[in-house]
Amino acid sequence: STFQELGLNEDLLKGITDLGFVKPSEVQQKAIPLLLEGEDKDLVALAQTGTGKTAAFGFPMLQKIDIASRTTQGLILSPTRELCLQITNELKAYGKHCKGLNVVAIYGGSSISDQARAVKRGAQIIVATPGRMKDMISRNMVDISKIQYSVLDEADEMLNMGFKEDITDILSHTPDDKSTWLFSATMPKEVATIAKKFMYDPTEITV
Ligand code: AMP
Repeated sequence: STFQELGLNEDLLKGITDLGFVKPSEVQQKAIPLLLEGEDKDLVALAQTGTGKTAAFGFPMLQKIDIASRTTQGLILSPTRELCLQITNELKAYGKHCKGLNVVAIYGGSSISDQARAVKRGAQIIVATPGRMKDMISRNMVDISKIQYSVLDEADEMLNMGFKEDITDILSHTPDDKSTWLFSATMPKEVATIAKKFMYDPTEITV
């Protein structure tokens, strides 16, 4: 199939052409049409790094959020600063033609006040590591009460790194009726438990 056939809009298709992506990967073919559907669903995806999973959740999130609004609507949690920056850069590239899009990265080891200022300018999407995110919530530097789409990326890694409490705390500040999309390379019991706790009847895909 083609990216057009997956139901992506013109602005995103232009970004895809710029990037030179020709064909959607398997996880993109499975996840994108599902996540673009009118009725928002939760998703559990078993997918390794390198499968194109960032685009599998990134494109649907970019299409679903209201870019005319400056409210934070999408939240992506990832285990490391490197991954956080990588996802942020990918989303910016995918959304290059989405006028007014503001994606902000939040991670430890860098100025918290700079990150707070970036969020204040109006980020529709925040990509964050759990520790710094929790810190900024507790300092009222970020409002995630209007989140509609949340992603737990590399969920197994985040749990391995001991972020379970932070993730639980962060998600408790988001609306109950948001959609949650969980991506993980493996499905140990801890990940299944998290999925059960935070998701309602998720669709499961494996690549
Ligand atoms: P990820 O698994 O999300 O880390 O993506 C791995 C790499 O593949 C990234 O550099 C992406 O930019 C690239 N990529 C993602 N989707 C596609 C695609 N459909 N065609 C070509 N490259 C892609």
